Order: sequence, then C-alpha cells, then structure tokens
Amino acid sequence: MAPVTGSERESAATDIELLRETMRIAIASRAAGNHPFGALLAGPDGQVLLRSGNTFATDKGVGHAEMNVAREAALRFAPEFLADCTLVTSVEPCCMCSGGAYWAGIGRVVFGMTERRLAELTGDNPENLTMDMPCHSVFDAGQRKVEVVVSCPQFPWTSLCPKGDRDGPAEGPPDERAGRSCCC
Ligand SMILES: [Zn+2]
Repeated sequence: MAPVTGSERESAATDIELLRETMRIAIASRAAGNHPFGALLAGPDGQVLLRSGNTFATDKGVGHAEMNVAREAALRFAPEFLADCTLVTSVEPCCMCSGGAYWAGIGRVVFGMTERRLAELTGDNPENLTMDMPCHSVFDAGQRKVEVVVSCPQFPWTSLCPKGDRDGPAEGPPDERAGRSCCC
C-alpha cells in the first residue's frame, strides 16, 4: 500500500467532518418523520454547497437523500464544476442514487456505512428493502469516472448503530481505521 501523503490525510479529515454533517442531517431527517439518511454536496474546497435528508414522508421510496442532492446539483451547477465536487453520504448510495450522481456529473463519492451492512440492519423492512449492489458496480459500468471513497468501512460512530455513538469519531487516515470494528 502506498504511504498516505499530507494532502490525502487532510482530505480524509475533511471527509470525516463532512460525514459527521451527513449524520446530523440524518438525525434531523428521522426527527421529521423520514428515514435516517443524510447527504451533501461538497465543492472542490470542501465547502458544503447542498444538503438533503431522506424525504420518504413526501416522496415515498424514491426520496433518498443522495438522489435529492444529485437532482438539485444538476439543476444548479454545470457538469464541469460537479466533476470536482463530492457527494458525501452517511450510507453507500443505492443504484438509483449512484445513477443520479453519475448523470449529474459528480466526480467523487464518499460514504460511511456500506449498503451491505445497512441491509443487515434493515432486514426485510418493507419501507427499506435495501439492495446489495456496491455503488462502484454502477460507476464501473459508466463512461464517466467517479471516484469512490469508503471513508470508514464500518462507520463505528454512526447513529444508525443501535448502541449509538459509543466509540466516538474515527481518527487517522483510512488505512489505519480500516481494522476498527463496529461497536455493534
Ligand atoms: Zn438511494
């Protein structure tokens, strides 16, 4: 594995802070009667440009936070700009949302929990019949490159975890965090 550079370490720290923000969005989303998911669009310098929670209460099964962000991003910004932007999301985008990010032209995706782990948590909940489709499978099928970053594979500090925030934030670059186990 290549050594982690200073800029990569800085980028990872920004990703973690942005992931924290997606969790705050997710908590607000749940409090508003929606599903506990949050997403945002970060500009090239890490500035938050757009935020959205899940909108199940109004949009039903297609009201995913990432799709809401991708749709708004496509309306507001040119693909040339979005190529340098990042979709940050609390949980790996599903195939619909990965497709939305791709078609909007967003160049980078950062997520916390994998969709497979989410499926383990949601089971056969009829409101959230989670798929098992890694987002890179969708992106790999496209003609436009989308960089995918799993900032913390097991996302031990997610509020989706039934044991809450016990472990606190993950620290250090991704390769050092990869071995941490989830508090569940
Ligand atoms: Zn989705």
